[in-house]
Amino acid sequence: MRIVLLGAPGAGKGTVAKQLTAHDGSVQISTGDILRGAVKAGTELGKKAQGYMDRGDLVPDSLIMEIMEARLQEPDAKKGFILDGFPRTIPQAEDLKQLLQKIGIKLDTVINIDVPTDVIMDRLTTRRTCANPDCQEIYNVKSKPASPEGKCLKCGTPVVQRADETVEAIAIRLETYNEKTAPLIDFYKKEGLLKTITSLSSEEIVREVVKGIK
Ligand code: ADP
Repeated sequence: MRIVLLGAPGAGKGTVAKQLTAHDGSVQISTGDILRGAVKAGTELGKKAQGYMDRGDLVPDSLIMEIMEARLQEPDAKKGFILDGFPRTIPQAEDLKQLLQKIGIKLDTVINIDVPTDVIMDRLTTRRTCANPDCQEIYNVKSKPASPEGKCLKCGTPVVQRADETVEAIAIRLETYNEKTAPLIDFYKKEGLLKTITSLSSEEIVREVVKGIK
């Protein structure tokens, strides 16, 4: 499968992406995870990206395209990929289109996961993430708690609230989404690739997507 997942922060792109990869061995490529890994590891990329990320702003398109141009051509992406958090702006979508043309690959579909803002706000403020950059398992205080000591159930590392998951940073991320990313819905509609899915669980979304591609 070659899929782009669109949706506001907290719409569930990461969860859906992970479940989709289980279907056919496609890889999940999350620019957010790549960037957070780089920040933790203290690389040049991480140093450049951190300020934007902590504020809830987007990292510059040029930096993102540098990462993605390399990532999409790694051997594991040959089987297929689920793009989660990329593209995030019209210039990124246009660059992605050119890049895919260059490497001779077509997207199967673009899934827009549509979730009401109040649900998103509640999800993001209660979200916790494993601090281990190689794990980054997502928890939720209400629906999927970590261990009673606040440790990751997979790797034992403490789970934390991300710096960009304060109420202020979340408000900025949602504003940024509406301004910069929501226009991609029209972009992909015009490309004839868009499918919008509203109010379904991640399992139901995965079923719909897989059915649509077969
Ligand atoms: P969410 O989708 O929950 O906001 P992500 O984990 O996808 O979070 O991204 C976290 C942060 O990383 C974003 O707020 C932004 O600063 C940066 N980022 C991730 N992907 C991109 C992208 N494609 N373009 C620009 N910035 C990005």
